Amino acid sequence: MAEPRFNTERHVKYYLRCLKTFLPTLYTSNDSNRMLLAYLTLSGLDVLGVLHSKTTAEERQGYIDWIYHCQVPSGGFRGFPGTDFGLESRTTENEVWDPANIPATFFALVNLLILEDDLERVKRKECLQWLPKVQRADGSFGEVLGPGGRVEGVRDLRYCCCAAGTRYILRGKAGKGLEDVEDIDVPKLVSFIGACQTYDGGMAESPFRESHGGHTYCAISSLDFLNRVSNDVKSVPLLSFGSKENEALLAWLVSRQTAKISESELDEDGSDTQDEQSIDTIEADSRISALPDIQSISADTILYAGFNGRCNKIADTCYSFWNGATLRMLDRYSLIDGDSNRRYLLEKTQHMVGGFGKGIGDPPDLLHSYFGMVSLAFQGEAGLSQVDPTVVTSKRTVQHLESLPWWQ
Ligand SMILES: [Zn+2]
Repeated sequence: MAEPRFNTERHVKYYLRCLKTFLPTLYTSNDSNRMLLAYLTLSGLDVLGVLHSKTTAEERQGYIDWIYHCQVPSGGFRGFPGTDFGLESRTTENEVWDPANIPATFFALVNLLILEDDLERVKRKECLQWLPKVQRADGSFGEVLGPGGRVEGVRDLRYCCCAAGTRYILRGKAGKGLEDVEDIDVPKLVSFIGACQTYDGGMAESPFRESHGGHTYCAISSLDFLNRVSNDVKSVPLLSFGSKENEALLAWLVSRQTAKISESELDEDGSDTQDEQSIDTIEADSRISALPDIQSISADTILYAGFNGRCNKIADTCYSFWNGATLRMLDRYSLIDGDSNRRYLLEKTQHMVGGFGKGIGDPPDLLHSYFGMVSLAFQGEAGLSQVDPTVVTSKRTVQHLESLPWWQ
């Protein structure tokens, strides 16, 4: 069997096309998420190790200026320039229609770090003063502040993760120069996260919902962000090896790896292919001999095994990342079958034009391309930079942050 190959050259081409030309029309509805699309593109090139060789200093400065243009005067960032009606027209009454946004703020800061900016133009204090206002009484975070300072957006671990990430980047190790700035309520956030663990060990978007690989990642990365700059979350049960919460979480994560990588065994309408009426009329003997040969499953017969995000779903490229990165943060990545995950990604969802699709035969998109690639970086794929599973950028970028004078 030929050794599967990561096609570096095609992936570089794919990301450069996304960066320097237009995205396909399907991205039109994602216009307000441009800060996220910028992150997936810039970080993709950074993980491939070519961001500096394939862009000019002038281009990178242009990207930095665009990101700062998305900074809201009162602190935090918007996700795209579309809501910006200009400094001259902005008033305390209308600024609610151009709010800072929790995920956009996190991705803007990460983008600046990838571009090796020193964050000197970031309204650090204002942003950190805004953060606790977006936290609800139950400890969760919303997305934006609406009219009257109301917290808006769903109750969801994604916002908790982006808020904890923003705090990690801007507060730094010791909160230098922020003595007069009120912090978020860390114990309440930790207790909200703990309440999101479900009966099966995984984590849901909010309490009493269904376990989900993406939200499980957000829960653990929130705790890891808090852990990196505070000492008060070291003993939470979810992170304590041997606790029933941690054991159940690990079992749930490992069970997400699946050899079911396509729906091909089912009809288009999702039913079994054999007609029920015809089964009744066939003799039992011939029915038995008509049963398909099914090979017994062993580690040797499973060549391809990706990850799903929920029970009973087929594999999807991005969950190789969401579940894998969580296991990395928990220091238990060795529990997965790396070879069959690598073969699934390289032979089934890596696309011939570069990038990765969501599933078999799907066209590449920015999200699945980035997370497929990062999953391979976790497994030490040649030509890829080491990636930090919590910040989800190259370790180079994290070292740049941690070297900033006010961060240490
Ligand atoms: Zn996906």
